Amino acid sequence: MTQLLRLDGLNRAFGERQALKDVTFDVAPGRLTGFVGANGAGKTTTMRIILGVLAADSGTVTWGGAPLTRADRRRFGYMPEERGLYPKMTIREQLTYFGRLHGLDAGAVARNITSLLDRLGIGERADEQLEKLSLGNQQRAQIAAALVHQPQLLVLDEPFSGLDPIAVDTVVAVLREQTARGVPVLFSSHQLDVVERLCDDLVIIGDGAILTAGRRDELRAAYALPRYEIRVD
Ligand code: ATP
Repeated sequence: MTQLLRLDGLNRAFGERQALKDVTFDVAPGRLTGFVGANGAGKTTTMRIILGVLAADSGTVTWGGAPLTRADRRRFGYMPEERGLYPKMTIREQLTYFGRLHGLDAGAVARNITSLLDRLGIGERADEQLEKLSLGNQQRAQIAAALVHQPQLLVLDEPFSGLDPIAVDTVVAVLREQTARGVPVLFSSHQLDVVERLCDDLVIIGDGAILTAGRRDELRAAYALPRYEIRVD
């Protein structure tokens, strides 16, 4: 079941460097939440804490009001910044592996893979090795890998970097299918214009601290953010 993800007062230091300072925001069911900040602002650190890859020094992450468990996290989908697929395997082999790892039966995995890859526009590449694909198609495969087990929460670290505008629209359409099912989706970017064009909710982080968070339209009005011509919504 989809729930509200709440980050409350997260702190994390690396040596002397305080990477996160009291990071607090929500990712709501059915909302596409854009997480924007310059390189080194703390986006990846925050996402790793959500996924349990990294521990916070203090603060909590709750899912539907209860502390996150390992079982919750297994039902989440994550696309890390450092892309983790095996170059020698085909897309189908890798997605099958991930789907089975999450406990889906072979039939369900096969069906999910076919429909996901078709929607992402790489259906015809399913049986090609990753290393033979263009970077854009490799990235679509990474996004498919985060989605193959039909996650209840989706966290994507820089999913649009390096994608051409058509690929961005394709990926956004797939993410919109997730939010339409009620899934909360959090994606990061260092480009405010990209995030602001695509998201429902906006979280801006600077030097480890949340500068502002809320509904995009309200923030637009409050901060007179520039309006962009191209709209996906
Ligand atoms: P980028 O887009 O460049 O990844 P980011 O917003 O995701 O930026 P983080 O990767 O979260 O930022 O980094 C936040 C700060 O924490 C940076 O100063 C970074 O150097 C530092 N940091 C992150 N991970 C580590 C680590 N494992 N060891 C030491 N410092 C780290």
